[in-house]
Amino acid sequence: MKPLVLIVEDEAPLVTLLRYNLEREGFAVEEAGDGEEALLRIAERRPDAVLLDWMLPLVSGLEVCRRIRRAPATRALPVIMLTARGEEGDRIRGLDSGADDYVVKPFSPSELVARLRAVIRRAQPDLADDVLRYADVAMDLTAHRVSRAGQPIHLGPTEFRLLRHFLQNPGRVFSREQLLDRVWGHDAELEIRTVDVHIRRLRQALNGKGGSELLRTVRSVGYALDAAG
Ligand code: CA
Repeated sequence: MKPLVLIVEDEAPLVTLLRYNLEREGFAVEEAGDGEEALLRIAERRPDAVLLDWMLPLVSGLEVCRRIRRAPATRALPVIMLTARGEEGDRIRGLDSGADDYVVKPFSPSELVARLRAVIRRAQPDLADDVLRYADVAMDLTAHRVSRAGQPIHLGPTEFRLLRHFLQNPGRVFSREQLLDRVWGHDAELEIRTVDVHIRRLRQALNGKGGSELLRTVRSVGYALDAAG
């Protein structure tokens, strides 16, 4: 899953530039044009990191950062402050408010991306590990390999994405509609039945060598990765 970055900035051309660079580097991007909107968006859907401009209308970037740090749900959310000011006093105030890092405009996009990756890695060390595991299943995201009890399993691309989604959300039940949305994508115009077809293929691949059932069918709801099921 792509790491989600919330850009909080009121200068549209800079937002466009940031979005372009971040998407090219494999991030998903959301935008907020002011501090109030930023706090609403964060409450709605927690990003993996926030790029926060210092100079914002309504609520300043510093105040947004303080509020992010005060709320228990977002205390550990990585924040990088963006600012045109380069003075040491401002730098220290920015870090005092709880920002994890600080980038002075104009900045190079590649440096910003490197800093973003670093703060996300520090906040989520398990993301650095490119192997997802559940019970005796392991998925190596870098090598695109899956194994069960050490034996390689060959999956088609859709089954791979489906299993990755379950491994990233173990134990959670997903409806067929949710799976279509999250695994196939928003604009997929597919029938619900498609999900059942790929679940069946995934099961056959996972259980082919005699393993116990890992994908639980929750009657009239959907499916979950659940070793106890
Ligand atoms: Ca601004």
